[in-house]
Amino acid sequence: MSQIYRQATFLTSANRFSQCPADAGAEVAFAGRSNAGKSSALNTLTDIRSLARTSKTPGRTQLINFFTLDEDRRLVDLPGYGYAKVPDAVKQHWQKLMDSYLTQRESLCGLILLVDVRHPLKEFDKQMLEWCHQASMPCHVLLTKSDKLSRGAAQASLLQAEKYIKQHALSASVQLFSAKTRAGIDTAHAKMNEWLGLDTQA
Ligand code: GDP
Repeated sequence: MSQIYRQATFLTSANRFSQCPADAGAEVAFAGRSNAGKSSALNTLTDIRSLARTSKTPGRTQLINFFTLDEDRRLVDLPGYGYAKVPDAVKQHWQKLMDSYLTQRESLCGLILLVDVRHPLKEFDKQMLEWCHQASMPCHVLLTKSDKLSRGAAQASLLQAEKYIKQHALSASVQLFSAKTRAGIDTAHAKMNEWLGLDTQA
């Protein structure tokens, strides 16, 4: 694993776009519906077990959480979507924050979309894919918890997601991933390295 991901440290949280840290360098953001496996993936990809715990502390789940990799690069944990029974005001705030971040953040160089392999491409996921396409933002889908399905069923889910992307002329890439078995970790890192301008041999 590239050493840089192991260096990830919590930088700051933002509840408004204006609270985001200086918009310089490059950052990769992680998005997904609640429970998609975003925290587990972040922990596995950095090899820091407690990394995403910060984002899960009460009061932080609706915030954008930034992690420093080096002076020019960051990972970003976007607030999970889909908590049942959140008040409309909270939903609207979330929507506005995500919208500003995704449309105005200059240093955002790619989006990793976490999707439970057993529930491929729900409405939120489709919206994110569409947004990335419209904004010409590179998007890479991790079909998470692949260990929960047989090899054949996981492949079928992968094919289904690829088919949707092709049929809708979207430009995202997709792979299987498991935080539990660490399957797919090299492919995910390679994509992040590419976006962050890192030497893939690093
Ligand atoms: P988040 O809400 O998107 O941050 O999701 P979490 O990372 O907290 O994961 C939600 C649930 O799925 C937790 O119970 C995790 O233990 C479980 N989970 C996440 N990734 C995996 C995985 O790769 N394999 C298995 N079997 N369970 C996973």
